[in-house]
Amino acid sequence: MLPNVMPVVMSRSRDPDFMRSAISTGAYSYLIKPVSLQAMHGLWLAVESVSMSLHSHNHHHHHHHSCCRFSPPHTFPAFLYPPTCFPTRKTLPTANPRCMLFEHDFLSRFVPSMLSFDEHKVSSLEPLSADELGELRQALLQWSFNPYRFTESQLIHCAIIMLEEAVALAGLPVRASLIQSLILSLHAAYYDNAYHNFYHAIDVTQCTYYLLQTLGIFNPRRRSSITAHHEQRRFAAQRILKPIDVLALIVASLTHDAGHPGLNNVFMVKAKTQLATLYNDQSVLENFHAACFSMLMQRFSSQFREDRPDFDYDQVRKIAVQSILATDMARHFEFIEKCRAQHKRLQSGKCFPLTPQQEEMERLQVCTTIIKCADISNIVRSFHIAQSWTRRLEEELSKQAELECCLGMTPSMRVDGSKTASTQVVFYTKFGMPLFSAISTLLPELDFMEKQLRSNIAAWRAIDRQTFGAAGPGRSKRRQSVHVSPTDHLHFE
Ligand SMILES: [Zn+2]
Repeated sequence: MLPNVMPVVMSRSRDPDFMRSAISTGAYSYLIKPVSLQAMHGLWLAVESVSMSLHSHNHHHHHHHSCCRFSPPHTFPAFLYPPTCFPTRKTLPTANPRCMLFEHDFLSRFVPSMLSFDEHKVSSLEPLSADELGELRQALLQWSFNPYRFTESQLIHCAIIMLEEAVALAGLPVRASLIQSLILSLHAAYYDNAYHNFYHAIDVTQCTYYLLQTLGIFNPRRRSSITAHHEQRRFAAQRILKPIDVLALIVASLTHDAGHPGLNNVFMVKAKTQLATLYNDQSVLENFHAACFSMLMQRFSSQFREDRPDFDYDQVRKIAVQSILATDMARHFEFIEKCRAQHKRLQSGKCFPLTPQQEEMERLQVCTTIIKCADISNIVRSFHIAQSWTRRLEEELSKQAELECCLGMTPSMRVDGSKTASTQVVFYTKFGMPLFSAISTLLPELDFMEKQLRSNIAAWRAIDRQTFGAAGPGRSKRRQSVHVSPTDHLHFE
């Protein structure tokens, strides 16, 4: 598309599909003929605000080196939806014109910005005192970890700590400035969505980190305490993992929702967005997150290779990309089946000794199971933490529903506060339980998640009973109305 040109479509058609296609093909505005003076004013204002925000963005980019996030959704007003576009609604949600923005702006401008190495950002990250660092390290070792107790700057440090440990474990020299720069670019790749934001990325990474530690694969302190006797007793799945898998899993967890627009795959496909076309409606967002991972890593991998020419980045990338793709909830049960099959295979012992190809396949399988658990791990944290994630998810979904209404689409989901508890019970039992019980079987040391899940289900059931009273009228009818399909829960990832 031409730089600094804003195409505008003028037509007599009021057909929402047609208007939407005009916008999604790249029009900045759509005016219905005959064009009223009011519409022209609106257009003029939109053009003005775009040029102002472009100016302020450039200004920001050149003169302000703080580590604060690159946030196009906030520097851009809702110019993509001037009121003349959609006669059915007066106002449109301001927080959500980002789906189009995502495609126009993100791919062309934001991604290149991720690729440009910005040294200035590094110097602006406030260093922490040894005490503060110690506290963060301690917090990262706890299952009770809650990212919302920390500032974003502290969370950036958390990410740095976890990545540094993974890099060191993989035998790569820890180059602080490189790692900081990587994490700052990553931080910039997350939007301020209610749920799919930087906090979620850190939450998932901390879970991966915690699980790998519990398995004794990660933390050298705990690894040294493993005796030969313990080593023998360790489960096959855990012996398979290599340090390079730990690195891949940590980087994959950090980047697994990079660039998430706060709208789910169902929306992407229904709205026929360019991204959905690009990925043929298959795991649209996950493909995009995985591509973001690769683009982000490109410039770092070459620097890691300079330090260690034998560093097998291709392996890391392969495992990380597959792990990110595995987070598509539409493929949830497929991966649970694979996890169960793996347990049978390893337990029978018939597959040993593994050929190099088999070994790689088994490692990949363990990695996808771990990241899948981490990705929905908020449902197996303490109940009050799980509850707060549910509220954020509902907020994000409500915004999507609002946008869908504005675009003349049928909302893919209606958030109804009175049904929260019963919907959660269904998700926890139908989607959560099979996954967490499969991992308990494969890696018994991780069975604490399944236990917490049972307790959380009981807590949601209690709330559900409180909301509706015991066996009140219409109860059975309401139960039936809670219909869950995999696509309903795409929002989870
Ligand atoms: Zn996620």
